[in-house]
Amino acid sequence: MQDSNAAQTTSGTGLQGQSRRRLNALGMDREAWAALLEELGEKPYRVEQILKWLHHRFVDDFADMTDISKKLRTELAERREIREPEIVSEHLSTDGTRKWLIRAAGGSAVEMVFIPEPNRGTLCVSSQVGCALDCKFCATGKQGFNSNLTAAEIVGQVRIAVQTLADAYPERERVVTNVVLMGMGEPLLNFDAVAPAVDLMMDDLGYGISKRRVTISTAGVVPGIYRLAERTDASLAISLHAPNDALRDELVPINRKYPIAELLKACRSYAGNLGEKRTVTVEYTLLNGVNDQPEHAAQMVELLRDFPCKINLIPFNPFPGSGFERPTVTSVRAFQHRLASAGLSVTVRTTRGEDIDAACGQLVGSVADRTRRQARYRRLASAS
Ligand code: SF4
Repeated sequence: MQDSNAAQTTSGTGLQGQSRRRLNALGMDREAWAALLEELGEKPYRVEQILKWLHHRFVDDFADMTDISKKLRTELAERREIREPEIVSEHLSTDGTRKWLIRAAGGSAVEMVFIPEPNRGTLCVSSQVGCALDCKFCATGKQGFNSNLTAAEIVGQVRIAVQTLADAYPERERVVTNVVLMGMGEPLLNFDAVAPAVDLMMDDLGYGISKRRVTISTAGVVPGIYRLAERTDASLAISLHAPNDALRDELVPINRKYPIAELLKACRSYAGNLGEKRTVTVEYTLLNGVNDQPEHAAQMVELLRDFPCKINLIPFNPFPGSGFERPTVTSVRAFQHRLASAGLSVTVRTTRGEDIDAACGQLVGSVADRTRRQARYRRLASAS
């Protein structure tokens, strides 16, 4: 069993200056609870009771779990704590999109975004404080990297959103219908925390979200995709952003390690686990004059002609110092048309939350950068 909250057990791994903490119960999936309760000599059905208290009734204290014995409540409180991440700030866009800044260990903060639509609500959660991968068109990448979030900090974002949004949308039975791990960070480089967090999102004793509606998005960590296939059948999205290796090496540097052919092979393998009607999503950010030309569309058609997938085109969302521009509506439509007329399934993502910097690729949070990348980009931006 993986210790998904390991970062919280040892002072000096992201909690400098803070006292030693108990493991956070919010990141424990069924398997972890079953192991702990067995160790305590308790019956397996207690797992169900405890998970419901944590993720359906949102208690913050074991003492409130009134259908379990006082002895067990005390034992749990000695071994675990219930600590929801702290909300630093909340912003509401004119289009209804919400963005929260959430405190993470070590003094940093990450962002999460909720995008309401008439028939669904999508929560975009973060998996790391910053990101080590440095995709060239991504604001998070320019923040550098600090640390992994724990499973409790990842699933805690869903817990916060579900509670907060229930008041905002009283008419909806379920407000958060979809979760995408497309916020800050590369989820497959934080596998041991992401896997139990995803389990809890999909578990009926957790947040009960359909496996079709929980999506893990990767920039192309190929070994992580194979590992994921052994663990879950959640949906998978890949950030392609270029139709050939030469361009992708520049835009998504992890491509130098895991080129497109290897990535698509891993995706085919993953898709094989999903069943007939499910496919992988291919994300493609359109950058004006860089990857949005007719030849790029033609290369996409060649690349994906026999690869069952849904393509999601994302017109670039600018941020200061990015060095890229958003393509015109006409050129986005032309690119879409070229793919669609070749028989590919393709949609264009509507930009949401731009007035609060919550659009795709704009999330920055507050990252105590350990990579010096943030300072380098600031220097470049001020020089230009
Ligand atoms: S696009 Fe994703 S993987 Fe790439 S730098 Fe941004 S957060 Fe990291």
